[in-house]
Amino acid sequence: MAAAPGHEDEFLPLFPPGAALDLLADGGTWFEGPAWTGPEEIVWSDVVGNRLLVWTPEGGAAIALEPSHHQNGHAVDGDGRLVAASHGERAVVRRDTTGHWEMLTDRCDGLRYNSPNDVVVRRDGSIWFTDPRYGIDKPEEGYGGTVEMPGCRVYRLDPSGAVSPVTPVMPAPNGLAFSADEEILYVADSQVGQILALDVTDGGLEDAREIVPPDDDGHPDGLRVDTDGRIWTSWGSQVRVYRANGQEPATLLGAVHLPETVANLAFGGPDRSTLAITATSGLYRVRTTATGATP
Ligand code: MG
Repeated sequence: MAAAPGHEDEFLPLFPPGAALDLLADGGTWFEGPAWTGPEEIVWSDVVGNRLLVWTPEGGAAIALEPSHHQNGHAVDGDGRLVAASHGERAVVRRDTTGHWEMLTDRCDGLRYNSPNDVVVRRDGSIWFTDPRYGIDKPEEGYGGTVEMPGCRVYRLDPSGAVSPVTPVMPAPNGLAFSADEEILYVADSQVGQILALDVTDGGLEDAREIVPPDDDGHPDGLRVDTDGRIWTSWGSQVRVYRANGQEPATLLGAVHLPETVANLAFGGPDRSTLAITATSGLYRVRTTATGATP
């Protein structure tokens, strides 16, 4: 595994001997939103191609849903159901175990969302998602429409069906993940190019602080956390690994360099140690020695 010059000593041991990037599927325009729906099964979005794809060792890549209404990010809930952020439907949707899709929320306080981008499920069953405007502003990534929300925020959908904004307006909230203890939510703002850490409270989120500042190599999109507190995030054509330091700025440990711009990533596999990576036209896989905190 090639590492960025200047990587920290604890970076290379995050990959087992012989670890390499496997290209599992190619031919996409903007692949996004990987999620593991089985020990060896990965689903992901072809956002521009308006398709949901699935990869298995036996069948390779296949279409799982078309049109997908420009689904973007995905998560798997505690019951194994696939939850999707849908640009086209301007909603969060869920696939039940029979394959039927249902709409979970498409508005808050009577106003339609912009275009939910990424989603994460907390252990209490609440669904948290970001709502930037890419599905409205980029014609190829959605069905367009009129902006109704006064800005872009993070929302929480409770199991009761109640939905509420949990952040103030942000430029472009995008990827999100909880710390392993679920007491902190990490949010990537892809316009500012930063990662924020927000304390989770009963009412929402407090004390937003920048733990990864902008730089010239790109910006973060999707991110995941491992059980040892590291943050794995897309950043330009890299997958960067940071050590979180509580209230202090995170420490960059190193980066995996890919041949194209990375959008998102997800831990899975039999022991949740394999990373699936969507990077523009390709779906990649790499083994690690880390363990993902959530599916
Ligand atoms: Mg995203």
